[in-house]
Amino acid sequence: MDDVVIIGGSFAGLAAALQLGRARRKVTVLDTGLPRNRFAGHSHGLLGHDHKPPLDILAEARQQLARYPTIKLVSARAESVSGAIDNFSVLTGDGESLKARRVILSYGIADQMPDVPGFAESWGTSIVPCPYCDGFEVAGQHWGLVWSGPQSHNQVRLFHDWTERLTVFADGHDIPADIRADLARRNIPVIDGRITEIAGHGGHNSTVKLDSSPDVAVDILFAHPRNKPSASLHELLGLATVDTPSGIALKADERRETSMPGIYAAGDLANPGMPSVTTASWQGAMAGIFAQQSMLV
Ligand SMILES: Cc1cc2nc3c(=O)[nH]c(=O)nc-3n(C[C@H](O)[C@H](O)[C@H](O)COP(=O)(O)OP(=O)(O)OC[C@H]3O[C@@H](n4cnc5c(N)ncnc54)[C@H](O)[C@@H]3O)c2cc1C
Repeated sequence: MDDVVIIGGSFAGLAAALQLGRARRKVTVLDTGLPRNRFAGHSHGLLGHDHKPPLDILAEARQQLARYPTIKLVSARAESVSGAIDNFSVLTGDGESLKARRVILSYGIADQMPDVPGFAESWGTSIVPCPYCDGFEVAGQHWGLVWSGPQSHNQVRLFHDWTERLTVFADGHDIPADIRADLARRNIPVIDGRITEIAGHGGHNSTVKLDSSPDVAVDILFAHPRNKPSASLHELLGLATVDTPSGIALKADERRETSMPGIYAAGDLANPGMPSVTTASWQGAMAGIFAQQSMLV
């Protein structure tokens, strides 16, 4: 039996494995190799790894984990989790059944691409979600923001630290009059109508095509499509969730334990605040440490 099975072996899952391996606990990490930022050329903001391709950071992490004899990294999908604390069973897509005393869920979230030609192709290059991740490289240039709800107003205020040239695309949203007045006061144009196509030009630049306005060229476009957990194991387990502006997140306490004793959660899957590689790594490390401490005799 493993002490812990970790489902999702990216930033959160590998950070959990590192702490558990250093505590000489027996761990199996299951991973399908599809981290959320795999579309990005570079990852920014992780101390010591800034401006590196995300897959290179993960490959280096996996290499470092190889020195811990109790950590096993397995390329497989977890299909189900059952049982209770001290006696969980995890079934993999290869038909293997793993037993574990604790389970850490770190399988991340998947961004749902809207049905707009060019959007999915541009995701991670000319359409990005986060200014901390990609803003510095295009500071002072012409940014676009696809409105996704009241939370977009906070983005407008945030973006001002990077650029004074912002265009808002309402994309069918009814932006309230008081917010429109604030945008006007900030000299931020609002383009009404729906986005019909994103024409990428390589690099960050693209042209936004609309159903009822002329095309608008931007140097980078920020958007926050809906997302959903990358697997549904939390549903099988009946875990509590909280709503986020673009989806749901698993509810976890300050020890990263979910609503079910013995099941921990870390990373974007359980981060209703500000998901990032840094927060995923921190939450993963905490989940690993608290899972280990919950097994002390
Ligand atoms: C375009 C883009 C650019 C970004 N750029 C940055 C950046 O520059 N800096 C930054 O800090 N953050 C950035 N982010 C955010 C960052 O990608 C996430 O915060 C981070 O990847 C979260 O890590 P995680 O370990 O929680 O999940 P993920 O990295 O998404 O990993 C989840 C892992 O679980 C695996 N998995 C899923 N289901 C199963 C299953 N059933 N069984 C086994 N394995 C499974 C997946 O294959 C994946 O490997 C960016 C996000 C996007 C979309």
